[in-house]
Amino acid sequence: MAQRTFSIVKPDAVRKHFTGAILAQIDKAGFQIVAIKKASISKEQAKGFYAVHAGKPFFDALTTFMSSGPLFLMVLEKDNAIADLRKLMGATNPANAEEGTIRKNFAGSLQENAIHGSDAEDTAAFEIGYWFAGYELA
Ligand code: ATP
Ligand code: MG
Repeated sequence: MAQRTFSIVKPDAVRKHFTGAILAQIDKAGFQIVAIKKASISKEQAKGFYAVHAGKPFFDALTTFMSSGPLFLMVLEKDNAIADLRKLMGATNPANAEEGTIRKNFAGSLQENAIHGSDAEDTAAFEIGYWFAGYELA
């Protein structure tokens, strides 16, 4: 059954001009790009988005990084989109990512790891609603 997930091409990948290659990999894997927009987010917006990680040692660095330059916010759709995107992304730490995954191909480090993908149905719903209005997804 078609499912939606939320994804970000993170600022490191945008800076390195990997956006096109990452979108091509997502497109080829069968995802529909339901919505996409470029944004430069504030540290406060990043903190709200990653609220689940508040208090972790990497929270301040992570939210500084996510607000360090433009990124692309996306809603993607396909059967089993949430799990399939996580698989296509590869492990959080690119050193552990499988060959051919987006993070293996394009991530520079554990923090600057090129792409975000929702990890469950409830987080996907929260994340889509955090960045997109209903009319943008019609
Ligand atoms: P994301 O939520 O961005 O899709 P993820 O679900 O694979 O990634 P999380 O555990 O949710 O990983 O961590 C969120 C993000 O925080 C990671 O993608 C990475 O950028 C950063 N991060 C996670 N763990 C660390 C760490 N130990 N040190 C530095 N940064 C980290
Ligand atoms: Mg996560």
